[in-house]
Amino acid sequence: MYLTLKGKEHQIPVLMNAVKQQERYVCVMVQMKVRDEYENELLMARRRAERILHDTDEANKKLQELLKEVEEKQQELLDLNKDLQDLALTDPLTGLKNRRYLQDKIMEFIELAKSSENEMFSLLLIDVDHFKEVNDTHGHPMGDAVLRELSWKLLRETRDHDIVARVGGEEFMILLPNRNEESARVIAERIRLNVDHGPWAQKRVTVSIGVTSYKFGDTPSSLYAKADQALYISKNAGRNRVSVS
Ligand code: GH3
Ligand code: MG
Ligand code: MG
Repeated sequence: MYLTLKGKEHQIPVLMNAVKQQERYVCVMVQMKVRDEYENELLMARRRAERILHDTDEANKKLQELLKEVEEKQQELLDLNKDLQDLALTDPLTGLKNRRYLQDKIMEFIELAKSSENEMFSLLLIDVDHFKEVNDTHGHPMGDAVLRELSWKLLRETRDHDIVARVGGEEFMILLPNRNEESARVIAERIRLNVDHGPWAQKRVTVSIGVTSYKFGDTPSSLYAKADQALYISKNAGRNRVSVS
């Protein structure tokens, strides 16, 4: 109970507490000044707590922002790495895959073919005929343009999951998943005909092609050797033709 004790001169506010003991009440009066001090202390403690809460909130917000920034930087780094990786596996002149990429893919396909009898694949090794003459007669830039146009033609003649790569100066290789030797030969012949007779924006060239298919026990180098032998036969037989290893 809050009471005010009235004196002659001034008034004294008090807090009175009462406890019943049997038939009596025991009362204690505490001068309000003391209670005020407690309340002040409490108020200040509460303000301090609120300030700390506010500061913690701010710090949390800042932390979230920093975390977001770190995440963004991480993504940028991943994108950059992917670009670098693509660059390392791409031929800069034609934009086709390069020899290193093809080598990895051939390894993958060999492993696949080893694990299942139904898996097969074939390779075409394609070499431009008398390409040195194109450079000698029309200049190196024209040679480059011919290589670029040929690479578009090769892409047009293949399906999405076939892999077209530039493996040397004027040498290309195509990996044909799920194709046996005969089906690969038909594709090679179609490519050869299209290069020989299709429209050309640049100086027309012809190509010789060697075809080979994966046989049990083949390695990347044995496959490459077989394709090279077949190509050699095409060159020897007069060029602009397809041979099967
Ligand atoms: P073959 O029919 O026997 O294949 O004759 P070829 O002239 O095509 O073969 P050779 O190996 O004698 O010459 C290949 C030429 O390809 C020589 C080289 O200067 C040229 N070459 C290689 N890479 C590039 C390139 O990136 N750009 C250009 N323009 N020419 C290239
Ligand atoms: Mg060559
Ligand atoms: Mg050549």
